[in-house]
Amino acid sequence: MVSWETAAGWDENMNIRKDDMVKVITGVDKGKIAKVLRVLNEKNKVVVEGIAQVYKHTKATRQNQQGGRISKEMPISASNVQVYCPTCQDGVRQGRRFDAKGQKERYCKTCGHGLGNVGKAKTAHAGK
Ligand SMILES: [Zn+2]
Repeated sequence: MVSWETAAGWDENMNIRKDDMVKVITGVDKGKIAKVLRVLNEKNKVVVEGIAQVYKHTKATRQNQQGGRISKEMPISASNVQVYCPTCQDGVRQGRRFDAKGQKERYCKTCGHGLGNVGKAKTAHAGK
């Protein structure tokens, strides 16, 4: 299991993480803000709650006696979403920086608001 930080293809376009709030910037769900359920690093795709939802009809089985309709979200390209900044109330470009303790964090390039830590603090990066 390769960590998401070291996985190939991880760059400016792929700093979306599980549980991030993102804004969809293209496609039929454009403008929607929702939570990231899964990140598929190798494919540069993300699965976002309620976005690109598909429905599948199921027959009644022993396990599911009612049958009916189940829905699931299809992965969409990570380039179709931007991380959502609660301060800007919009999808934004994000940067990365180290704090005084060497903790890497992401931030909103528009307003500077912190968007969550990245990985564990590395003392090598700490300001000495
Ligand atoms: Zn912002």
